[in-house]
Amino acid sequence: MKIYISVDMEGATGVVNPLQVRAESPSEYAFGCKMQLHDLKAVIDGAFEGGATEILVNDSHARMINVDVSQLPQNVRLISGNLKPLAMAEGIKDGCDCAFFVAYHAMAGSFNAILDHTVSSKTIFSVKLNGTLVGETGLNAAVCMESKVPVVLVTGDKAVCEETKMLFDNERIVTCAVKEGRSNSCATLLPPEETYQLLKDAAVRALKTFNSTYISQDLFECPYNLEITFRQTSQCDTVSYLPGIKRLDGRTIQVQCDSADKVWRWVDAAVTLASSATI
Ligand SMILES: [Zn+2]
Repeated sequence: MKIYISVDMEGATGVVNPLQVRAESPSEYAFGCKMQLHDLKAVIDGAFEGGATEILVNDSHARMINVDVSQLPQNVRLISGNLKPLAMAEGIKDGCDCAFFVAYHAMAGSFNAILDHTVSSKTIFSVKLNGTLVGETGLNAAVCMESKVPVVLVTGDKAVCEETKMLFDNERIVTCAVKEGRSNSCATLLPPEETYQLLKDAAVRALKTFNSTYISQDLFECPYNLEITFRQTSQCDTVSYLPGIKRLDGRTIQVQCDSADKVWRWVDAAVTLASSATI
């Protein structure tokens, strides 16, 4: 059984502040990396105990070179670095049986959610897929589900766990909260020794559920109607000049996609282009 793990950083044990997830602040960032690795190793431990024979990890945060491969056990493979066409879901088509999203955060605009954002806090206000507000959990789940790889575990703060339950409307998906937000950048934390066990147990439970009842669920129907609302009208102006895009209002564009892969590519391209707006 081959497990796919997309690992972000904002939802890791102990992480609450933007400095802890940005390489520009080396000492705080070192803590973020340490905690990301901590949570990753806990679910890897649980996955092997739950019957995994191979694990493919995709480093999914920022520059995507956060995870230190020298700290990973045998039979784990790491996708490290950027650029990659499917971004946070890169590698999902490499013959994986099911997926974990680890150290994830809630979508932009969530309440009491640590470092809530959707892909880019500087450019994106919100994203809708087929009329439903989605964050990174939803966008990546759409790619996984279309590739017939069910998402069986999501870990992070309490808010992303609640978002996951709402999105999947499915009690079979396992979530594991390692902290509870009191604002965007303050949380009540659990110590790593406790979260290691919680995460490991959650991974074992997720694979047990996966093996006993196969989770097949289409979250979004194809074709996909993608709507992106930007923070600034100038960012929307820049992206809206691309052919095939419909401008819905000052800050929102709409694009039709015939695959979930293309949804991710549009979001990625839109963020890159919107970042170039100078006003
Ligand atoms: Zn991140």
